[in-house]
Amino acid sequence: MELLISEAIAKGVQSVLTKIRSAEEKAGRPAGTVRLVAATKTVTVEHIAEAVRAGLSILGENRVQEALPKIAAFTQTPVHWHFIGHLQRKKVRSVIGLFDLIHSVDSLDLAQEIDRRAGEAGRQQNVLLEVNIGREPTKAGFHPDDVVRSVLMMAQLSHVCVKGLMTIPPQTADPDSARPYFRQLHDLARQIAALDLPTVKMDELSMGMSNDYEVAIEEGATLVRVGTAIFGARHV
Ligand SMILES: *Cc1c(COP(=O)(O)O)cnc(C)c1O
Repeated sequence: MELLISEAIAKGVQSVLTKIRSAEEKAGRPAGTVRLVAATKTVTVEHIAEAVRAGLSILGENRVQEALPKIAAFTQTPVHWHFIGHLQRKKVRSVIGLFDLIHSVDSLDLAQEIDRRAGEAGRQQNVLLEVNIGREPTKAGFHPDDVVRSVLMMAQLSHVCVKGLMTIPPQTADPDSARPYFRQLHDLARQIAALDLPTVKMDELSMGMSNDYEVAIEEGATLVRVGTAIFGARHV
């Protein structure tokens, strides 16, 4: 049983990496411009280790409590951790220094708290701004119309480095229906890049999950966050 699961995970990693490469090629983008972030929520340390052996190096976690013991289990392994879930203000202090990139900064208030705590720790924290590109009432993220104004304020924070944008488009069965949303996020990133703010970069676009990462790559994703296509369906 466990052997079958390990094989399935290794195959999942290989299959996703191959499809990423094909999508890069189809989009006329150089090989290696898209990085795979494995979404590891609910996945055990053993199964994550299997995926790392199969070639993964960036792991994305959603919850601080779940992430901390996993990070501790991999201190001897050259992996990078990204935070991709909703981050509560009160948890900010415990994540500074642990994550190379926080994908999910969804308010100015959160950015200011990260700035304060990173400053106390004498660090810089790389972040992406999460944009609610589909303008869904129940979804986290900056409203697309507010992003530019918020970026201008974040450019003032000396311990927060904005590296790009992230989005989770409205959920649909057809991956192609996400395309206009990915395109809108890319356009927004271009607009912000044109402001040429010294402390704000728009190098990263985190978009695309198991269902639609190939479409996201065609529309300019540099980071895709994939869980199910590697680890199988989550039962928790
Ligand atoms: C779980 C999760 C993913 C991956 O979703 P899959 O459909 O399993 O690939 C990507 N991004 C975020 C923010 C997630 O929480």
